[in-house]
Amino acid sequence: MTNLSPICRIEPLSSFYDFRATVDVLRLDLLHPVVSGNKWFKLKHYIADANKKTILTFGGAYSNHIVATAAAAHQHGLQSVGVIRGEEPIVYSPTLTQAKGYGMNLFFSSREAYKSKIIPPNVYRQYSAEELYVIPEGGYGFKGMQGAKDILLLNDTQKYTHLISAVGTGTTLAGLTAAADVHQQVIGVPVLKNNFSISDEINDLLQAEKRHRFQLMHDYHFGGYARYNQELIQFMNDFFEKTSIPTDFVYTAKAFYAVYDLLKNGAISDTDKILLVHTGGLQGNCSLPNGTLIFG
Ligand SMILES: *Cc1c(COP(=O)(O)O)cnc(C)c1O
Repeated sequence: MTNLSPICRIEPLSSFYDFRATVDVLRLDLLHPVVSGNKWFKLKHYIADANKKTILTFGGAYSNHIVATAAAAHQHGLQSVGVIRGEEPIVYSPTLTQAKGYGMNLFFSSREAYKSKIIPPNVYRQYSAEELYVIPEGGYGFKGMQGAKDILLLNDTQKYTHLISAVGTGTTLAGLTAAADVHQQVIGVPVLKNNFSISDEINDLLQAEKRHRFQLMHDYHFGGYARYNQELIQFMNDFFEKTSIPTDFVYTAKAFYAVYDLLKNGAISDTDKILLVHTGGLQGNCSLPNGTLIFG
């Protein structure tokens, strides 16, 4: 792996989190404008394993994983196919436009059919099963978790007592849990509402001795996946004003908000040292109405 630590630096957040506890942020968002943050880590072992095959993966019209996969495949000279949830829109989202720009061949799958994660039959009119290398939705899987372990190797992260990240599929949190030291608490903030099976899904990626070595805070989903309210937007703008760090409304803003709340209600104590992982994903903000955020 190339040396990414100067890019993915750790910065203090004392200008925002005005508490005694140390709160720092690991800026994975600086890694790459498109293959941002955690997606790059989750994809790297899959890409290396694809062995010249065409990469196929699944995602929604605003999926960070789709655009990251398209960009990563393009960068490695691999072809890519995206199976997108829902009917083909008349106007493509910025995410889909960008994925297409990276050469991703897009196939649309009805919401019903998409649920089963079956490759739509028309994909096989253009590709044989043998030439496809399938990456699960969101990069969920052992290879994704292995890649995410490296997130903690970029910098000296030993001094932190708490490692905190947003949770979608939980692959990133599994990687953090696998890589964390015994003295470190790993906290995940699920962005899906009432996603209680996520705990098992994370444990499935972990060796027995690492299982259950994480905690999930289920109260910060703001209504569910890609839902938000004025309070969250206000938080994002306020956070940017004080730190100059942009967040995305689907993932990082919810995790960063959770930390604020946990500090405020005393769940995190004065002597704790928190490392918040900025998992990137800023392109997701393109789906917000213009002018919602003070940063672009
Ligand atoms: C995909 C994503 C996540 C969730 O990662 P999982 O490994 O699926 O839990 C968190 N933050 C951002 C910005 C993402 O794009």
